Parts: sequence; C-alpha cells; structure tokens
Amino acid sequence: MITVLRYGHRPGRDKRVTTHCGLVARAFGADRFVLTTRDESVLRSLQDIVDRWGGPFEVAVEENWRQYLRGFRGTRVHLTMYGIPVDEAVKRIDPSQDLLVFVGAEKVPPEVYDVCELNVAVGNQPHSEIAALAIFLDRLFGGRELEREFRGKVRVEPMERGKKLINLEGSP
Ligand code: SAM
Repeated sequence: MITVLRYGHRPGRDKRVTTHCGLVARAFGADRFVLTTRDESVLRSLQDIVDRWGGPFEVAVEENWRQYLRGFRGTRVHLTMYGIPVDEAVKRIDPSQDLLVFVGAEKVPPEVYDVCELNVAVGNQPHSEIAALAIFLDRLFGGRELEREFRGKVRVEPMERGKKLINLEGSP
C-alpha cells in the first residue's frame, strides 16, 4: 500500500499543482492520496477521475498531519532536494512494508526530516513536487507502473495516430 501525503496545500493558490500530484500518484502506482488541508474542489476533481478512469484509488484528508505522519506504520519517505539520491534510496525500501511519500507545497517543518526514515532527492536542484513524485514512483516500480490496469468506465485504445476511447459500460 503506497500513500502520498500532500503537505501544506494552500486552497486556491495550489489547486492545480495539488490536483496534478494526486493524478500522478494514481497514474504512477500509488493507492491513496492524502491532503493535509481540506479543499473540496481538489477532492472533487480527483474523485471524478477515479469514477471515470478507475482505481482502486482513495482520496482522503488528514488535517492532523503531524499525528498521521508520526503514527504511520511502515516506511516514510520525504521528497526533498536535500536528501539522498533516489536510486540509492529505492534500494533501501522494503517492498513488504507500507510506504508513505511526503511531498511539500510550502516550507516543510524540520521535524519531517527527522521523523521520516528516508529523505530522498530527485536530483539536488529545486524543481517541482509533481516531477519529484513522478520520478520517485517510476524509479520505485522500475517503470512497471505504466502497465497497471485500471478498472474504469473508459480506457484508451493506444494507436500511432488519432484518439480512440473505449466505453466499457456498453452504452452507445
Ligand atoms: N520551498 C519549499 C521548502 O523549502 O521546503 C519547497 C518548495 S518545492 C516547490 C515543493 C516540493 O517539491 C518540496 O517540498 C519537495 O517535496 C518537492 N521537491 C522539489 N524539488 C525536489 C527535488 N530536487 N527532489 C525531491 N523533491 C523535490
């Protein structure tokens, strides 16, 4: 079970980036996406995608993020440009344990660096939580996450040109 915890979402300002973190979490193999700030528009956007494109994928809110992080049983990974290289980190992750991936928006409090078992950098340059999450999950799964089947109402029929969407509910 892989949970992505999106820390410090600022409603309005971070709506698009947080929604994209949730979309990446789902599409790249995580099972749950947890917001530390309630934002109905983000929750609705993500739930709409899950309803149409499938899961299983859960979206939740944990406003007491400190208690949630401290109480998490498994491996806690904090994505930060100050951490150890991602390729070294994934070798240290025990796949039999639940995993929590902590990604920031605003400044991340110092205690997070101490509580998490691994502080992981996707390169040591500042960039984006969306990019960091995508690359971390891709390295973790070695690319196999892209082959995952989603049980949705629609699916894409891949083709060299054009766009084909299959409606799996059988309606015309
Ligand atoms: N200014 C904030 C701070 O000092 O904590 C960070 C802002 S950054 C745009 C938002 C998030 O992107 C970070 O909390 C981190 O999770 C992620 N991030 C950015 N660059 C990263 C990198 N090189 N490696 C891993 N994660 C990164």
